[in-house]
Amino acid sequence: MNPIVIIGSGMAGYGLVRELRKRDRDTPISVITADDGRAYAKPNLSNALAAGKSPEQLASQTPEQMVEAQNVRVLSHTRVSAIDPAARIVATDQGAIAYSKLVLALGADPIPHGLTGNGAVFSVNDLGDYTRFRAALAGKHHVAILGGGLIGCEFANDLAGAGHGVSVVHPGLWPLERLLPEAMGQALADALAAKGVDWHFGRKAQAVEQTLSGQRLTLDDGSVVEADLVLSAIGLRSRTTLAAGAGLKVNRGIVVDRHLASSDPDIHAVGDCAEVEGLVLPFVMPLLQQVKALAATLTGQPTQVAYPAMPVVVKTPACPLAVL
Ligand code: FAD
Repeated sequence: MNPIVIIGSGMAGYGLVRELRKRDRDTPISVITADDGRAYAKPNLSNALAAGKSPEQLASQTPEQMVEAQNVRVLSHTRVSAIDPAARIVATDQGAIAYSKLVLALGADPIPHGLTGNGAVFSVNDLGDYTRFRAALAGKHHVAILGGGLIGCEFANDLAGAGHGVSVVHPGLWPLERLLPEAMGQALADALAAKGVDWHFGRKAQAVEQTLSGQRLTLDDGSVVEADLVLSAIGLRSRTTLAAGAGLKVNRGIVVDRHLASSDPDIHAVGDCAEVEGLVLPFVMPLLQQVKALAATLTGQPTQVAYPAMPVVVKTPACPLAVL
């Protein structure tokens, strides 16, 4: 019997494995992942300094431990390049793999920063990225962050709290302007400013140049921000290319119904890559509801995802917030 194949070992992919195994110990499951296959909670990336955690300490399980604990096959460092829905196989750099059901838990890509110049810009969207960012941060002081949304604000708080100089360049007039009214956004900005965060509201960075001492950002009003490192947190975009290439319906995300089924009934999508009835909700609580419902469906109990109230906790201890 061909396995259920899950592409992705993030919180959605491994979350689904855990939910499936609560219901069924035996159905073969293979997880294919482009990264190293360690399990970790991604939200911890933006408060690891405050928690005193190294990147290595953020991993909760090795792929070998996942194999042992969950009776799954994990193919790490393996990228899926194409899906053939008619033949029910996926093509990988290790050869073709057949599936009975396929689940896309592909996550999202950082939006390209689009800056001109020869400078370096980091983005942190997985444990590998964070490991590289922390290595580059060693011995460095000032970090310029592009974007004052959720992730930009959390990194600003974490870095400032650990004694780093932080500048944030944000096109909005206050942080998190799509989630917070102005007065609340201003309170968050003030609390972070009191920790030393230097805000550049209403501005976009246009260029980044490597200088003798670090990186120089030039903003759209011609002003300049000097920093040792630049971190882009300008947003994420669902990974849809693989699905689109297989002829599946995609929009902002991979289009699925409330059963998490795509336009091919044997292919499902969950997590940051999925657009469930018109909504891409790139947060942990929605994906946990999705994987619970999908595990029930894949084990013979068709179940639609239903969302309870899902507050988003903003990890800015300088001004703790939960947004509904
Ligand atoms: P990912 O974790 O991105 O996993 C995608 C997987 O797909 C990876 O294993 C990747 O290797 C694999 N993959 C992709 N393409 C291929 C391919 N072609 N072949 C093989 N493998 C492939 N949410 C909250 O609710 N609260 C928070 O406080 C919070 N904080 C956050 C802080 C940060 C810094 C970030 C970046 C996000 C945060 N989020 C938070 C969002 C939350 O972490 C994500 O919604 C969630 O982790 C997404 O999980 P995922 O499994 O869908 O995607």
